[in-house]
Amino acid sequence: MPEETRVDVLIVGAGPAGVMCANALAAAGIHVKIVDQRPTKVASGHADGIQPRTLEVLQPAVSQSYGLAERLLKEGHQMHMFAFYNLDSDGVLARTVRVPAIRGPTARYPFVFLLHQGGIESIFIDSMAGHGLTIDRLVAPALIELSNDSEQLADIFSHPVKVTLDHLDTPGKQETVHARYIVGCDSAHSWVRKTMGITMDGEQTGKLNQLHYHPLLPLRSPPLDHIWGVIDVIADTDFPDIHNACAIQSMSGSCLIIPREEDKVRFYVQLSDSDVLDPITGRLDKNRMSPEKILEVTRKILHPYKIHEPKMYDWWTVYTSRHIA
Ligand SMILES: Cc1cc2nc3c(=O)[nH]c(=O)nc-3n(C[C@H](O)[C@H](O)[C@H](O)COP(=O)(O)OP(=O)(O)OC[C@H]3O[C@@H](n4cnc5c(N)ncnc54)[C@H](O)[C@@H]3O)c2cc1C
Repeated sequence: MPEETRVDVLIVGAGPAGVMCANALAAAGIHVKIVDQRPTKVASGHADGIQPRTLEVLQPAVSQSYGLAERLLKEGHQMHMFAFYNLDSDGVLARTVRVPAIRGPTARYPFVFLLHQGGIESIFIDSMAGHGLTIDRLVAPALIELSNDSEQLADIFSHPVKVTLDHLDTPGKQETVHARYIVGCDSAHSWVRKTMGITMDGEQTGKLNQLHYHPLLPLRSPPLDHIWGVIDVIADTDFPDIHNACAIQSMSGSCLIIPREEDKVRFYVQLSDSDVLDPITGRLDKNRMSPEKILEVTRKILHPYKIHEPKMYDWWTVYTSRHIA
């Protein structure tokens, strides 16, 4: 017989959305179970930017906030300035303007804050542990059954959601959870959303220039379709604005620089289709790229500035589009 548990809320997915939701509910005294199919949390890279209003939600010792900003501010990087580079009249890369990253006059934290996704998740995971809640890892839902008893559905104290969970590290091991609510925090391709028959409303940004659709930048350019290479490194360079965010447009393409925690920097660079698309399927093939190749493209865009070979690559990826709900 599968093990049976009863909770107020079952959360599927322990990325930033799942752990923030779990922490908030656990802090409010709600009985939560949170599961994730991954064996561990994200170690490096991925999402990096937190806006001033989010910091206000997390700030310490203010009513209705979560008291987590203090640790966050110690571990991450504050980005205060944004520089824009273009070719000058001689065709040489030059700074056009440098502006404050945040210009909202009422911002209590007048900067964009940067910390890799694993660092952000850790802060919530440690806070949840203080409320006695940990993530059940290597666990994924196999079946969701929703009661069709109208009386049970109308009763807020009932548990009308029955979920069968697979324990991925033990073949055949299952667990049954009876919940009042299930929350799908299992990403853009959410299994929970699809299983519940909920559509993903919104639009793809695949037809937008991703440099100008980065969450840290205002949308500024006409739609273009591009693929982006991303690397996190400690950069040994003579580029003067390496500790500021930069949007760079040169003859060799576009680059976005985002300074990071621990002296790291993230380069987003525009790649050409032939670098990364499989010629037969036309699909993005990450195996055709490498951090060394992304850095090579970055060097061409930043010419005449130099970037020496880094001691290590912290994280890298290639991506093209996302969905705006
Ligand atoms: C290069 C890059 C830069 C980015 N920069 C930023 C940024 O600066 N700011 C920003 O806000 N966002 C940024 N993003 C986007 C950000 O990564 C996502 O918006 C964010 O991770 C979404 O969080 P999430 O919790 O919804 O999903 P995810 O982080 O994808 O987490 C989903 C979790 O659900 C789990 N899961 C999935 N399916 C199942 C299942 N069936 N059963 C159990 N578990 C499951 C997964 O293992 C995962 O742990 C960036 C993304 C990339 C790739």
